[in-house]
Amino acid sequence: MNQLTMSQRMQQGQPMIVMSEDSQRVKDKDAQDYNISAARAVAEAVRSTLGPKGMDKMLVDSMGSVTITNDGVTILQEMDIDNPTAEMIIEVAETQEDEAGDGTTTAVAIAGELLKNAEDLLEQDIHPTAIIKGFHMAAEQARDEIDDIATEIDTSDEELLRKTAETSMTGKGTEVNKEHLAQLIVDAVRQVTVETEEGDNVVDLEFLNIETQTGRAVGESDLLVGGIIDKDPVHDNMPTEATDADILLLNEPIEVEETDVDTEVSVTDPDQLQKFLDREEKQLKDKVQRIVDTGADVVFCQKGIDDLAQHYLAKEGILAVRRAKKSDLEFLSEVVNANVVSDLESVTEDDLGFGDVTRDDDDELFYVEGDDAHGVTLLLRGSTDHVVDELERGVNDALDVVAQTVSDGRVLAGGGATEVELASRLRDYADSVSGREQLAVEAFADSLELVPRVLAENAGLDSIDTLVDLRAAHDDGDVTAGLNVFSGDVEDTFEAGVVEPAHAKEQAVTSASEAANLVLKIDDIISAGDLSTDKGGDEEGGAPGGGMGGMGGGMGGMM
Ligand code: ADP
Ligand code: MG
Repeated sequence: MNQLTMSQRMQQGQPMIVMSEDSQRVKDKDAQDYNISAARAVAEAVRSTLGPKGMDKMLVDSMGSVTITNDGVTILQEMDIDNPTAEMIIEVAETQEDEAGDGTTTAVAIAGELLKNAEDLLEQDIHPTAIIKGFHMAAEQARDEIDDIATEIDTSDEELLRKTAETSMTGKGTEVNKEHLAQLIVDAVRQVTVETEEGDNVVDLEFLNIETQTGRAVGESDLLVGGIIDKDPVHDNMPTEATDADILLLNEPIEVEETDVDTEVSVTDPDQLQKFLDREEKQLKDKVQRIVDTGADVVFCQKGIDDLAQHYLAKEGILAVRRAKKSDLEFLSEVVNANVVSDLESVTEDDLGFGDVTRDDDDELFYVEGDDAHGVTLLLRGSTDHVVDELERGVNDALDVVAQTVSDGRVLAGGGATEVELASRLRDYADSVSGREQLAVEAFADSLELVPRVLAENAGLDSIDTLVDLRAAHDDGDVTAGLNVFSGDVEDTFEAGVVEPAHAKEQAVTSASEAANLVLKIDDIISAGDLSTDKGGDEEGGAPGGGMGGMGGGMGGMM
């Protein structure tokens, strides 16, 4: 962030004299307008994907490769955006993705709406610092209220966990098979959850591996207590399965060791050649013998295996695979409880793991299952690459959601219920806030209601009617009244099974307000290059899906 350091320097009274001819400077109101427009344009670009009825986007990069997705953070990352303010909003999505795994569109949409409402306050000559303070107070209050609204659940309640997974997957590429996938996801998370002595659940997603396979239906996705090696045996005469097997994980080649680069072997008579070949053969035989001596039935090797060594291994009845992925070996070391061996000279049988290796002939891969394995593999299937990619993004979100619910135990009603309740409580809170900050707290409350409005809009419903109905229900004390996007009715979404982890909502509120405040603090933009002051996004905030076309200045390369 060049601009910031420069403006900081100027604030410290250091003169800044040298600006290149190409550089541009935008100050005060113009700077705020410019930044807010850019940030809003980004937020509007993803809004139309929000919720079960949200649409997907097709992104084509400069190389022509296509991504079809509904995932907020993926859309923003794939868009080739080179506007610094817009990038700050993209960071909101990335933080949300890192911290919560889901809710990226929500976080970005709220950030955009905060800035839109801040713009109105700036128009009324309210100083940015008052807005920033008000937003900050509101975000803090909102987090407290979320904790108050949230329901503590029994984290072993599988049905509820499945609901959180299904809510996260609704409207994604995962939609059609969401019940099946939700079950796999809940099972997977439970497999990698350990309870601490204090009774807390710790979910270690490191022990959960996702593998994807094209060619079969999504419904044939499966959970495996173990790992996968997507390779063939190196030799036709090897066994393809091994039960109760001793398994060697090797990251050293079973090949002849290279002689020094410079050594030339000059062969003057056939005897010498034979000796040389014999020596190589012996080296390979020795290596294989060392493996045989450990008692290994199976060798998964990260490096190459010489043809002759393959032959010896086959003769010994050992199943061997070469060029296995490093990450797969590391994962398997957990699954079968083995060391990854990097030097055959020092290998002992203690380095070996123990488990069952079976072959899936259709997909030409090995399943490796350990005894009381740490690791599980979620095998996602789909007909084509695009299907599988979007499936994986959806499943990843749902995994994070279930993992969070298991470890945090607090959930909220979805479908806009929580946002409307928060807005109502923030308006009450605003009464206790004095000065201009009160208006900012109210603006914050309005901004949260963007979520139910957009959910309605994307479902082809009247967003104003919906909001009026929702507010009425909450005024009556229905804390969990949300929108059923399929019927258009207001209902108890918690009861209906639309359930979200509380942590994701807290994070969305936090990152959205922090990003908005970051943008609002800027009153001076000094750019070394061309700075287009075209306004992005149309004034009314754009129709859903219209955000893409509305992106002006500095955001090129899209589509
Ligand atoms: P995000 O990237 O923010 O997770 P999504 O497209 O996943 O965006 O949409 C999440 C929103 O959709 C949440 O507000 C959630 O409550 C809502 N939602 C999910 N399922 C339903 C449903 N069945 N009915 C109503 N709203 C739903
Ligand atoms: Mg989501």
